[in-house]
Amino acid sequence: MAITPEAKVLWEKAETILLRGGRIVDPEAGLDGPGDAFLRRGRVELVAPAIHREADLAVELRGLVLAPGFGDLHVHLREPGREDAETIATGSRAAALGGFTRVACMPNTDPPLDTRAAVEFVLRQARACGLARVFPVAAATRGRAGAELTDMGELREAGVLAVSDDGSPVADARVMRRVLEYARTWGLLVVTHAEEPALSRGGVMHEGYWSTLLGLRGIPAAAEGIAVARDVRLAELTGARLHVAHVSTAEAVETIRAAKRRGVAVTAETAPHYIALTDEALKTYDSVYRVNPPLRSEDDRAAVIAGLRDGTLDAVATDHAPHTEIDKEQELEATPAGMIGMETALGVTLEVLHHREGFDLPRVVRLLSAGPAAVMGWGGGRIRLGEDADLTVFDGDASWTVDPGAFASRARNCPFRGWSLRGRARLTVCSGKLTHEEGVEFCPSERLLSRLP
Ligand SMILES: [Zn+2]
Repeated sequence: MAITPEAKVLWEKAETILLRGGRIVDPEAGLDGPGDAFLRRGRVELVAPAIHREADLAVELRGLVLAPGFGDLHVHLREPGREDAETIATGSRAAALGGFTRVACMPNTDPPLDTRAAVEFVLRQARACGLARVFPVAAATRGRAGAELTDMGELREAGVLAVSDDGSPVADARVMRRVLEYARTWGLLVVTHAEEPALSRGGVMHEGYWSTLLGLRGIPAAAEGIAVARDVRLAELTGARLHVAHVSTAEAVETIRAAKRRGVAVTAETAPHYIALTDEALKTYDSVYRVNPPLRSEDDRAAVIAGLRDGTLDAVATDHAPHTEIDKEQELEATPAGMIGMETALGVTLEVLHHREGFDLPRVVRLLSAGPAAVMGWGGGRIRLGEDADLTVFDGDASWTVDPGAFASRARNCPFRGWSLRGRARLTVCSGKLTHEEGVEFCPSERLLSRLP
């Protein structure tokens, strides 16, 4: 399930690599058709319908899609503080397996990512493992306490592109206004975890038919809707760039749609679980389905998909939230909210949006590559000549059964256990380096073989 040592050695020793016979899907470049890609020392030298060149290593992509490397705008890597649930290394490996080359990790670690030192620690750990480009999202307020702002200038210098108190909302509207104003002066994106805590407090699932039937405390859709409306209005007031995390409701989709029409600088993401699951899943009382925001109604699910279809929502991001089995084995009321997602994101997204809802492949690829790149401004998002290769190769039809036991993530809190999905990453290339390979044919030249030890 990871890179075979043979493939790794071949990739590393090959000066030139020809990825041949695939379908190139690069929506930003307007490409969708058969093609080859030629890499030299990890850089993309040429992309063309047919490349007739000798290479040290040829990789057969027949039946596979070659796309820009995927980006995940929303993951929790749990390091520092909860290395028993996930580490930057295990999370990076899960990213690579899922086809992701870039991930934005949220600041709700222990201690939180609210200082330059904390951010630099994450960057160092990520570089040391080298399986994904990790972009720490720093806290918007000190200690994520919702009162004093972090030193955004210093955070920006450390390489931060966005701030957020994710895990919690910035509850005070006045503080949120100052966050947006300050972030704007430093050119930072503000990611909002949109939740009105006075309405959501104590809730374990979506408030509606199922919560009534099951006798569980609900979180109304309005808890998200009010917070999104507030933050969109504050973005308008301050001129800051706002990104709405994990949109789960029809109400929020409609507010963002209207804001975009007015020209507000707002973008938004949803997560695979909001397009694949509804609150009905809670009837099992299985704590794996507890997530925040909660799984919503069928109408909300349909509205979120419509939001992806018409571009109101810019990206699919996983909100990958690892928890230990001990933490997740508790009763619903006691268990922490969150589910993992990086290793199932592509399969769920293709299964639901492409195979069932009829989205074409370029649209799905955009939601996983160019969409997130435009939100975060982290580069990538398209296949660029002359740059280090940043690529995801996937099989859009490959059928597989989800087995969390085989995951690279340290956590097992996956709501799709046992699901049959169509769509799987076969090869991930991050900064020219092979970070994941599964069942792809490698054809080394004689010259390369003679150079091997
Ligand atoms: Zn959140």
